Amino acid sequence: MHDRSRHDRTHQISVIQVYCPAMHDAQDILRTVFGYDNFRPPQDEIINTLIAGDDALVLMPTGGGKSLCYQIPSLVRPGCGVVISPLIALMQDQVNAMRLLGVKASYLNSTLSAQDALEVEEALLAGKLDLLYVAPERLVQERTLALLQRAPLALFAIDEAHCVSQWGHDFRADYLKLSVLQERFPEIPRVALTATADVRTRADIVSRLELDGARQFIAGFDRPNIRYRLALKHSPKQQLLRFLRDEHPMDAGIVYCLSRRKTEDTAAWLQQEGYQALPYHAGLDAGTRAQHQRRFLREEGVIMVATIAFGMGIDKPDVRFVVHLDMPKTVESYYQETGRAGRDGEPADAWLLYGLQDVIKLRGMMAQSQGSEEHKRAEQQRLNAMLGLCEITTCRRQALLNYFGESLPEPCGNCDTCLEPVDTWDATEAARMALSAVYRTGQRFGVNHLIDLLRGAETAKIFQFSHQTLPTYGIGQALDAGQWRSVFRQLVARAYLSVDLERYGALRLEQKCRPLLRGEEIIALRRDQKVKSKTAKKTRANEALSADIDPVLWEALRDKRRQLAETQGVPPYVIFHDKTLREMCLHRPRTQVEFSRLPGVGESKLEKYAEAFLTVIGSI
Ligand code: ADP
Ligand code: ZN
Repeated sequence: MHDRSRHDRTHQISVIQVYCPAMHDAQDILRTVFGYDNFRPPQDEIINTLIAGDDALVLMPTGGGKSLCYQIPSLVRPGCGVVISPLIALMQDQVNAMRLLGVKASYLNSTLSAQDALEVEEALLAGKLDLLYVAPERLVQERTLALLQRAPLALFAIDEAHCVSQWGHDFRADYLKLSVLQERFPEIPRVALTATADVRTRADIVSRLELDGARQFIAGFDRPNIRYRLALKHSPKQQLLRFLRDEHPMDAGIVYCLSRRKTEDTAAWLQQEGYQALPYHAGLDAGTRAQHQRRFLREEGVIMVATIAFGMGIDKPDVRFVVHLDMPKTVESYYQETGRAGRDGEPADAWLLYGLQDVIKLRGMMAQSQGSEEHKRAEQQRLNAMLGLCEITTCRRQALLNYFGESLPEPCGNCDTCLEPVDTWDATEAARMALSAVYRTGQRFGVNHLIDLLRGAETAKIFQFSHQTLPTYGIGQALDAGQWRSVFRQLVARAYLSVDLERYGALRLEQKCRPLLRGEEIIALRRDQKVKSKTAKKTRANEALSADIDPVLWEALRDKRRQLAETQGVPPYVIFHDKTLREMCLHRPRTQVEFSRLPGVGESKLEKYAEAFLTVIGSI
C-alpha cells in the first residue's frame, strides 16, 4: 500500500473511498477519538491520499480543519506521524490536547532537557508514539534525521508551509532545508499545509519542498460564520467600548493596532474599563510575550491588543472577535488576521474601523515606498484592493472571495452592507469642486485646509495665502465638514488623489481625475451613515446564548470546565469547545450514552469527563 505507483493513483483513491478498510478506520477514529460524525470535505480525500502513501498540498482557511488531515492518517498508518511546526511555544499545548484525546503524542524542541528528549527518542524508536511535533531547526540536524531513519514513520506533516516562501511575510530559513525529507525519506508520504492562498506562495511551496507529485487540495476560502463589518472611524475608543459592551462582554478576542505604542495604550485603557486586556508586540521581551500569549490561551475572556506580530499558529478556537483599529495594508493580511476569529465554526465578528486619516497615511506610505517599479505597482494594487474593500457598497464577502479568485453567487447576508445596505449619491459636482480646490491651491495643501477653503472659513491660513480670492472659495457650503471629509476620503481611496507625506499630507491630482474634471465622468460615492445604528443588539453575531440557553446551566458548565482545565494545566477549550457546552445545555444529556452523542466527545473524553458534567447537568 505504501509504494503504490503514481500513475494509477486516481483510480486507487476512488476504490479506497468505497472499500478500503483504512477509510473505515479513519471514519471510526473521527468518531471515537475526536467525537465528530462527519469529515468536512476535502478532509476525507486528503486523508485517503496520505493513507495511500501519496503526498499532498493542503490549502485551507484558518479554522478549516487542517490538523485532522495529518492526525488521522498518523493513527491509521503504522508508525509515527512527524509534524514540523515553527511554533515551539504552542507545541506543549498541542501535545496536551492530543493526549487528552488518548493519542500518544510528544514533541522535540530546544525547550526540552536532554533527559526528556532522550525519553521521547526512545519512545519513538520503540514504536510507542502516534504523533511527534518537531521544530524545523531540530529536524534538519543530522542527529535527528538519523534518529528518524531508524524509526517507524507514518508521514511527515509540514505545517505553516508558507514559511518556506520568501515571498510571504513569515519566511524561515530552516524551512528551505526541508527538501531533505524527499531525499532521505522518499517512501514516507508528506503533506504540506497552509492557510495562505497566494498563487506565488503555493508555487514556492511545491518547488522548494519538492512536492511536484503531490495532489493539491484547495478548499473554499469562505468563512460563513464570520460577520464582516468595516465601519467609519469617528471616536475609536468609544466605538470599541460600545462594541465590546453590546456584543462581546465576556468574550476572548484580538484587537489589532498598527503601532506598538498604540497596543499598549489601548490595552491599558481597556483594563481601566474593566476588561482583561493585554498588549502584545515584537518590542516586548520574550518572557512577557510568552506570558501574555499563555494567558490568552489559558484563561477565558482575555482580549489581546496586538500588532501583526501576534497570531500565527494561534489555534484558539473560541476567539469571538477580531477588531482592526487601523487598516491593514493588504486584503491578504486582513483576511488572515480576521480568520483567527471563530475557528470553532460558531458565530464571530470581524470588525474594522477606518477613516480619512488611515486612507491618507497608507496612500502616503505607498508613495514613499522603495523598490523596483514592479514591486511598487504590486504594492499599489494591493492597497487599492484594501481601500476598495472598505468603500464598496455591495456585499463584503463577495468582494473578499472574489479577490481570492472564488465567487459567491448571492450576497452573503452576514456582512454590514448586506445587513444595513448603504446608499450612494451622485457626487460628481462635489468631487469636481474638491479636485479644483486641490488644483487652484497648487497641490500643496492637506485636507483640512481644503475643506476650510470650500466652506469659506475665515482662518489665518486662508488669509495668509489669500485663498479667499480663489473662485473655489466658499463654493462648497452645501456640504458640512464631515461630508467633505467623506468626499476626500473616497477620492483618495479611489486614487483620484495621491498624498505627499513629506509635505504634511498635501493632496495631488492624479491622471485619473481628468475625465471627471472635464465633465466626462460621473461619480457615485458612499453615503456615510451619521448616526450609529441602535440595532446593534438585534444584529449581533453571537446571540445563541441569550436565545435558547439556560444561563445558570451555561455558567455552571463553564465553571466545571475551568476547574478541570486548571487541575490539568490545559486551556479550557481543550477540555470541551463552547459548542459542546452549548449542546449540553440544549440536549441536557442524562446518561453516558446520551453524553457520547455530543459533538467533540470521543471515547477518551467520555471516560474522563462525562461523569463530572453529567453531575452538573443533573444538579440544575
Ligand atoms: P486549522 O488548523 O485549519 O486552522 P483546526 O485543525 O484547528 O483548523 O480545526 C479547527 C476546528 O475545527 C477545531 O476545533 C477542530 O476540532 C474542528 N474540526 C475539524 N474538523 C472537524 C470535523 N470534521 N467536524 C467537526 N469539527 C471539526
Ligand atoms: Zn454580504
